[in-house]
Amino acid sequence: MLKITDLRAEIDGKEILKGLSLEVNAGEVHAIMGPNGAGKSTLGYTLGGRPGYEPTGGSAIFEGQDLLELAPHERAAAGLFLGFQYPVEIPGISNLQFVREALNSQRRARGEAPLSGGEFLKLARAQADALGMDPEMLKRPVNVGFSGGEKKRNEMVQMGIISPKLAILDETDSGLDIDALRAVGEGINRIMRAPDKAVLLITHYQRLLDYVQPDFVHILADGRIVRSGGPELALELEREGYGILAA
Ligand code: ADP
Ligand code: MG
Ligand code: MG
Repeated sequence: MLKITDLRAEIDGKEILKGLSLEVNAGEVHAIMGPNGAGKSTLGYTLGGRPGYEPTGGSAIFEGQDLLELAPHERAAAGLFLGFQYPVEIPGISNLQFVREALNSQRRARGEAPLSGGEFLKLARAQADALGMDPEMLKRPVNVGFSGGEKKRNEMVQMGIISPKLAILDETDSGLDIDALRAVGEGINRIMRAPDKAVLLITHYQRLLDYVQPDFVHILADGRIVRSGGPELALELEREGYGILAA
């Protein structure tokens, strides 16, 4: 599904990703862990096409197309979803308007018919229900005044509505209490654990991985994947810290 080869990217002329390679097959969940400042968020933003994150080498082939050559909205229409550590607040646009526009513009780009208002509302309510979010919150401006946990639940509702092929989730667990963590973890499994979908889960802590069990764990340090393994690698990290990288 995704094959990243020798990816290099810079911010303000400073190289942050320094030849990163990673392969993700459909049906797989990959956790990416690593010290602060290693380039984890930069990887997500570079794949998503955020301005200021400049790819300078390598490739990221997603279902046969190089993501790096697509505009951000084309990447989304191709099936890529980015979840952020700090979801943005958008005053003046309701959750419903925001996600409906996102979904329907992606559908149009793929040559699919947009959903009607009624069809969309039904889908949105079902996803809010499944995440334990009050459907009334769908009418509120995007994330405005939402608690940290509500923002993350809302992001999972958005993901459920969009139903992407590949989700890159950046510290989706940060700032969550135990109930929200479980709800978000179950949401990721329900929405994304499927033979035709895959997840890149960027996380500092093992605890989210208790809910969403990764097939592979990678350590990103200084702009590269320096170690890969199974779920036991996350446990080893939790026990020993990043000192294991020096060993
Ligand atoms: P991580 O998510 O692994 O903690 P980041 O990808 O956020 O790391 O950051 C990687 C490196 O890039 C850090 O050294 C950070 O200071 C630098 N960096 C990130 N964003 C910017 C920016 N907007 N301008 C300059 N440097 C940045
Ligand atoms: Mg960080
Ligand atoms: Mg980060």
